[in-house]
Amino acid sequence: MNYADIKKYDVANGPGVRISLFVSGCSHFCKGCFNEIAWDYNYGKEFTDDTINEIVEFLDNPHIAGLTILGGEPMDPKNQDALVPLVKKVKELYPDKTIWCFTGYLFDKDLLENMYKENPSTRELLSRFDVMVDGEFVEDLKNLNLKFKGSSNQRTIDVQASLKEGKVVLIDKYN
Ligand code: SF4
Repeated sequence: MNYADIKKYDVANGPGVRISLFVSGCSHFCKGCFNEIAWDYNYGKEFTDDTINEIVEFLDNPHIAGLTILGGEPMDPKNQDALVPLVKKVKELYPDKTIWCFTGYLFDKDLLENMYKENPSTRELLSRFDVMVDGEFVEDLKNLNLKFKGSSNQRTIDVQASLKEGKVVLIDKYN
């Protein structure tokens, strides 16, 4: 997997000050995408153990609330395997810091009903994510007043509560 960018001290993609990893590669091709350059799976730099260590070391700071993974498409089947060691390490070392993930897939239809059953990496990732913002960006539904998302079709989901209840559980304060 390649990644497009790492933003340290990001306050736009989840609560508090966060480190954000923008992975490369996306096949949703949303009209008006905020990061079209990251559609290309080969864009940016190679995601290596050193990248993981850099992120993990940066998180060792009480002022950093957590990690956000976005893109590109983190849940693209081509990207998931590379993210598993990162997410495992972050949760192991910093269980109190949150992991947010932004995906263009639908949490219930695409992830839970399909990928979750077929792909062990999907299960590894979802078992450690705190929050997912799901759904493609829809330009006609763009709303600048929304918190941590671009269009009103997108949902901010409590991942662990959703897995437990077997249905999408929204986080009211962000929806
Ligand atoms: S899912 Fe995200 S990165 Fe992919 S095209 Fe849509 S807005 Fe862009």
